Amino acid sequence: MKDIRRKVRRSQTIVPFGVGGIVDLRGESFVAADIRSWAAAAERVESPRLARKLRVTGFRSAPVIPSGKAAYTTRVGPLYVRFPKWLFCPHCREMQLWRPDRELRDKQPACRRCAAKPQLAPMRFIQVCRAGHMADIDWRRWAHSRSEGHAQRQCQIRRLRFVTTPESFGLEALRVVCAVCRAGRNLAGISQKNILKQTGLPCPGTHPWQSETDEADTCEETPQAVQRGASNVYFPITHSAIDIPAPAGLSEDDELTQRVVNHFLWPNFNSANGSPISDSLKEVIADQCDVPKEFVENVRRRHADGAASMPSAADSDNDLSIAEWAAFSLPESVMDSETFSVRRSHLGIDPDDLGSMQELDASISAVVIADRVREVRALEGFSRYEPSSGDDEESEGGRVVSVNTQSRAQWLPAVETYGEGIFIAVDEERLSTWERLQSVRNWTRRIERDLNASYKADRLREKSGPHLLPRFVMLHTLAHHFIRQLSYDSGYNAASLRERVYAQSHAPGSEFPPQAGVFIYTAAGDAEGTLGGLVRQGQPPNLAETLIRLLESAQWCSQDPLCADSTGRSLANLNRAACHACTLLPETCCEIDNSLLDRTLLIGDGDVPGFFRRVVQAALQESAGAVDLP
Ligand SMILES: [Zn+2]
Ligand SMILES: [Zn+2]
Ligand SMILES: [Zn+2]
Ligand SMILES: [Zn+2]
Ligand SMILES: [Zn+2]
Repeated sequence: MKDIRRKVRRSQTIVPFGVGGIVDLRGESFVAADIRSWAAAAERVESPRLARKLRVTGFRSAPVIPSGKAAYTTRVGPLYVRFPKWLFCPHCREMQLWRPDRELRDKQPACRRCAAKPQLAPMRFIQVCRAGHMADIDWRRWAHSRSEGHAQRQCQIRRLRFVTTPESFGLEALRVVCAVCRAGRNLAGISQKNILKQTGLPCPGTHPWQSETDEADTCEETPQAVQRGASNVYFPITHSAIDIPAPAGLSEDDELTQRVVNHFLWPNFNSANGSPISDSLKEVIADQCDVPKEFVENVRRRHADGAASMPSAADSDNDLSIAEWAAFSLPESVMDSETFSVRRSHLGIDPDDLGSMQELDASISAVVIADRVREVRALEGFSRYEPSSGDDEESEGGRVVSVNTQSRAQWLPAVETYGEGIFIAVDEERLSTWERLQSVRNWTRRIERDLNASYKADRLREKSGPHLLPRFVMLHTLAHHFIRQLSYDSGYNAASLRERVYAQSHAPGSEFPPQAGVFIYTAAGDAEGTLGGLVRQGQPPNLAETLIRLLESAQWCSQDPLCADSTGRSLANLNRAACHACTLLPETCCEIDNSLLDRTLLIGDGDVPGFFRRVVQAALQESAGAVDLP
């Protein structure tokens, strides 16, 4: 086997080739095993805010693997195992169930029967279930499931071939047959919902890196045959945080205390005071939290003296947007930080500029240019068959499988990236006046009704807040068009840009200020990673021009009138006037699942005024005026 780890870039060890993900590499197919395969030597990645939110002790990153032979023997970083294990020879069509002990370094599996030793190909179909399991289809049983006569029913040898029958089409033309007893079955209907169950092929209750004999769960779910590359094979669940200067009030000491209190052994340690096990618990906690043992002891003493002095997981820990919004809204520039360097800027619009520019200026209340930001992105787990709908075991949707399939993960795989970005905030007074318009509220309420009925509701509400506000959909749509326009103007690949939407609704009377902004940034995957392109686009007069251009182009979609008139075609589609042709982005860009997008709230139509309608109208009049000139 090739050392897959050298072919997978570090950022890819989180998405798309993180735990449970399938890697296709020159005709070979592998799956990333869970984090128990990561050596403890994996590099630590710091992100205390994200650790508090996800209630883990920390993060580790796959090390950069240097080239050369010595590197191969260091077993660090994720392990990839061959999957599916059922392979076939494209020449003689003989099938083989691959065993790990047959892996040879830098050798692809080859057919042992054919003289030319052609490379074996992985079977295209595999099975997954709602509990997140994934397994090979038991092709032996499939081939013998239509057995006729004594010989076929008693067949024990079961040497299989994967043949094609030229007189049929599609899946009917693909057939798994037994070379010994001639029993066989084609693949017609294999993707139907109950067909594996009916054939007597249950879910084995395992992940490909687990042993079927020792580690299998009992799984009652109906397994489903899917193609290896299908989009419902893997839904990674990631979280990210941008480094911001420590918010006032939370010292480094508090950070460490929080880390200790969040440790999964803390409750045991805290109640084991004086008992013999106390010391060993203290040692484990100190070691894993990277603090001295005395520190852990001190935390317990302070805790006993009065829990009031302990920092608790406040709202702002669960919702990282609160502190990030506060950091971007600071009136001063921050230039001396390695991980968060931002400058206050402006659109640079003069009193004698065009009316559209004046309207834009009145709509945008802040511009911040980020010369350097650090983002940590962590993988919590994944689901298969369907995206997870949240923590609720009973609800529809795929179940979340942790990156540690044996027990709750104490740390998560993560990757840090450095980049640059542009932050803009819209004028709160204009925004809240617009949000109070009846037509805007009714419009948004209809989108919210669809959201409530959706299985994605819980996950999306984590981003949107308890109530879906017009500003959330409007700013999210702005972020998408901003990314599209920036990639067009600055030459960045859209997939390398990311959005953060700050538009949370908070409970009435909440201490947190209203949010109304977007941050677009690059996450290039290494410590250098900044090209300066975004910073340049954020400077006057480029930014104002970019914003005008994006508002102009947002009025348009090649799928109109279909796109403009969309009323949410299905439960899975929570968008209105937004489609692949005009608004949707590669999934790496979007933190809200390409959902809750609508050009109408941005620019308006006959019935609903968009937030930027005055800018758009002024620009239209100006261009009409320009045409009228003699
Ligand atoms: Zn062969
Ligand atoms: Zn047979
Ligand atoms: Zn299962
Ligand atoms: Zn469209
Ligand atoms: Zn998005």
